[in-house]
Amino acid sequence: MQTPLDYMTDWADGIRCWQAVYRLQSEPVVSAASARKKGFKRASELLAHSRQHSPFYAKYYSSIPTDSPLEAYPPVARSTLMDHFDEWATDRRIDKKSVNHFLSSTDTIGERYLDNYLVWTSSGTCGEPGIYVQDKNAMSIYQSLISVRYQQSGHASASTDPWHLVLNSDRMAMIAALEGHFAGTVYWKWAARLNPWLSSRTRTFSILQPVATLVERLNDWQPGFMSSYPSMLAVLANEQKSGRLKLSLNSLWSGGEQLGEQQKRKIEAAFGCNIVEDYGASEAMNMAFGCDHGRLHINTDWFILEPVDENRQVLPAGEKSATTLVTNLASRLQPIIRYDIGDSITLHTDACDCGNPLPTLSIEGRNDDTLWLPANEADHIPILPLALNTVIEEMANEFGFQINQIGAQELSIRTQGDDIQSRREAFDKIRAPLKQYFESQGTLPVKLQHDPRPPQRNAVSGKLNQVNNRSRVDHHVSTCPASE
Ligand SMILES: [Zn+2]
Repeated sequence: MQTPLDYMTDWADGIRCWQAVYRLQSEPVVSAASARKKGFKRASELLAHSRQHSPFYAKYYSSIPTDSPLEAYPPVARSTLMDHFDEWATDRRIDKKSVNHFLSSTDTIGERYLDNYLVWTSSGTCGEPGIYVQDKNAMSIYQSLISVRYQQSGHASASTDPWHLVLNSDRMAMIAALEGHFAGTVYWKWAARLNPWLSSRTRTFSILQPVATLVERLNDWQPGFMSSYPSMLAVLANEQKSGRLKLSLNSLWSGGEQLGEQQKRKIEAAFGCNIVEDYGASEAMNMAFGCDHGRLHINTDWFILEPVDENRQVLPAGEKSATTLVTNLASRLQPIIRYDIGDSITLHTDACDCGNPLPTLSIEGRNDDTLWLPANEADHIPILPLALNTVIEEMANEFGFQINQIGAQELSIRTQGDDIQSRREAFDKIRAPLKQYFESQGTLPVKLQHDPRPPQRNAVSGKLNQVNNRSRVDHHVSTCPASE
């Protein structure tokens, strides 16, 4: 429940957002070099602040001379930050015990932690999920990037300016994993509190409901603007094409997963409108934004992205990286410095025809499959990877799993754990919620089998896909050697 203090805090956040928008608007990016210079100046301030106020970084960087450039600092992994959670934040009141208590209830999604902060979690692809605490400074910068950068995108038309689209849509729909403390949901709840007109025009829909129900509800609501994950938009594009979904949209917003080029074309064709793209992560929101020419421009004044090889050596532009180190200059509360985000990217140096001087990138993120399971009423029902994630993490409290479809109605599941016994116990915990979820979607009975091996990377791509459908399993996964 909102207290008077919460209203005051929201009001203060709103003022700060306006100030951030004004600042960004009054300093348009004139060249790639000037944005980069600004970014590196901010990075040196962030490093100094972190060394002084974060006990973790003070120790982690103890052997690095204070005037060293960013690339002299050692990279950091999520697991290291989570292991040193209580020493990480620059506000020393933040600790894992209190934040876990806050996260243990779904009633607190989007509410304030320690009266002042927002908290979101990322899904635990390789085990423990990440927990990220946000202060009003970071939130106002993220918000200003969304509000301003699309507008300043060279010859940007109304079709790529999200606020223009929002203002011009009578009704908006957000389809998301509402059941967890995920970034998109927390962010949206916060934005809606700050802008009551926005919440009155928006309806949120859970990705966990059966597609037929979702279609019915969307047909009722008739949004002009719809936002979701690419995998969900692809499923809805099918529904629109089949005529079951009857929406007349001005625009779509896609985020949270990587949108493939082919997938993008298919979705845009089905709905007859453009997709506004965004590249962000729980650790660093709004790192890049899509332009009218279909490219993603990096906000290099607020985020430094370093493409690196397997040995974490920085690669030149034009080369596809094994992973990427991200430095988030917008947030000083839990500093993210040369953080391994796991995405494979390629930086481009050629100018984009849209005229925006900020450099562009292409991304190859994680690539999980949508499962199509046989059902009673329809031929097959889509099961989204993100829905499986939400069920396993939020309902069974298990992290780090891999589902391989080995038959039409048969799934083989690998779980995280140090030994076979603990992996078996994890499987036992997730079995009932998964069965229940499949039943709620109307699938025919699904057989769940435990694979005692821990989750494994794809033998061909080297990627850890959490959900592999039958065709991928047939081709690659079954050939993976056991890693134990
Ligand atoms: Zn462009």
